Amino acid sequence: IVPRPDHDQVIDVRKLHLGPNVAINYAQPLQIVKGKGCYLYDQNGVEYLDCVNNVAHVGHCHPEVTAAVCEQLQTLNTNSRYLHPNLTMYIKELLQTLPPALETLYFGNSGSEANDLALRVALEARPGATHVAVLAGAYHGHVESLIGFSPYKFWGKGGRGKPKNVHVMPCPDPYRGLNLDGRRCARAVLEAARQAGGRICAFYCESILSCGGQIVPPEGWLKDVFDELRKEGVICISDEVQCGFGRVGETFWAFQSQGVCPDMVSIGKSIANGYPVSTLAMTRKLAQDFSRAGMQYFNTFGAGTAACAAALATLRVVKEEKLQEHAAQVGPYLQSELRKIQEDFAMIGDVRGLGLMMGIEVVQCKKSKVVAPRLATWILERMKARRILMSTDGPYDNVLKIKPPMMFGRKEVDTLVSNLRAVLSVELTPSVFDKILIEEQKHAIDIVHPRKAIYDENERRLYAGLLAADHYGHLSSSGAAAATSPAGFA
Ligand code: PMP
Repeated sequence: IVPRPDHDQVIDVRKLHLGPNVAINYAQPLQIVKGKGCYLYDQNGVEYLDCVNNVAHVGHCHPEVTAAVCEQLQTLNTNSRYLHPNLTMYIKELLQTLPPALETLYFGNSGSEANDLALRVALEARPGATHVAVLAGAYHGHVESLIGFSPYKFWGKGGRGKPKNVHVMPCPDPYRGLNLDGRRCARAVLEAARQAGGRICAFYCESILSCGGQIVPPEGWLKDVFDELRKEGVICISDEVQCGFGRVGETFWAFQSQGVCPDMVSIGKSIANGYPVSTLAMTRKLAQDFSRAGMQYFNTFGAGTAACAAALATLRVVKEEKLQEHAAQVGPYLQSELRKIQEDFAMIGDVRGLGLMMGIEVVQCKKSKVVAPRLATWILERMKARRILMSTDGPYDNVLKIKPPMMFGRKEVDTLVSNLRAVLSVELTPSVFDKILIEEQKHAIDIVHPRKAIYDENERRLYAGLLAADHYGHLSSSGAAAATSPAGFA
């Protein structure tokens, strides 16, 4: 038996032999060796409440999914070039959850693969249209094409800026009352593409922005955007990688909560409870356009026999355990408990979300709504010390994210909320708060600085009014003033 390396040895090898920018959580990373339901365990058996992992959708190591994968691996695991009922059983069951128009599927291994494939399909379907529209703050994947469609990355640390053929639609921000007119936002990007000499072939969007800061657009906002974009033939792609499979509670897919039917839907992460699987659903027409030129689609691991077993078992557990209904019940309870905290603490600016997809926006003070990323990280670390795992996200990293395994119940909500209250009322003393505020203000310039690189001059003119209202302009009072432009976009 080879002895397992301990915590420090694992850190040493990672430091020496993993790329230095491979993401890791926490100043003092955790070594997690076991998971069950919505709990994780470190090498000493210490239990942590997992409020973040939306990949372990039906719970860490769910016995039915684990058994299905193990059994399949002992029998056969091969690619989709042979017939196997696992794939077709899965197709049938997944399609029952999707609108009838989305009747054709392609399989891959990751959300990035699904979104990159969506681009290939859109380019084939709309020859000559080579521009793409995305939402501010969005993240759609780690491959080169998608870094270019992800303002979260290309305007973030180390980003190379916006590609010329990508147009960033200002993001709705109901908390600040901004960009709430979807039609106007859509018209602005269409015009930006025209002025850049191009046509938009596809619009990528999440129906709740996850990396963008757990933002729920106002009711019907996306429908207005889709309607406006479709007047010019734009293909609308819903990225359900983070928010699908019943997470939002009232609907199975988040796009349904906005009353839209996309042309393509990319699905990943939670699809197979941790086994790498993704799929791209689309209309038959788009699939025909994509296949017309004759190039075959093959993906070595996509729709492999064990992958399909994992996805099928996961979907069955979602249904058998009524996890969507569960999210619809526990989500509002979580939200109302968090709202009580929001009322009691000046630094909790907003609580928002749907079902078990929730965000807490941390600000310097409720009145100014100036973002407080350092305070958010401090809260995250204090919660970890209390054995509760959360994450921070959003363009300014000031939104605490909650998107736990779906069996997260009232007991877990109570644990999360009581500990958060204790952190804010007992640990965040006035002197600690003042120290963090000084740090926030010292670094405010770092936060406002990327604003300068955002949107080129032409777009600034076209989006005027919208940009003035873009939440990038609301980091500080000076940032807001700088974002105001005199020209209007009609
Ligand atoms: N889309 C969204 C909304 C995501 O959050 C992610 C991953 N965080 C992706 C796509 C890419 O998925 P993957 O990491 O599986 O490639």
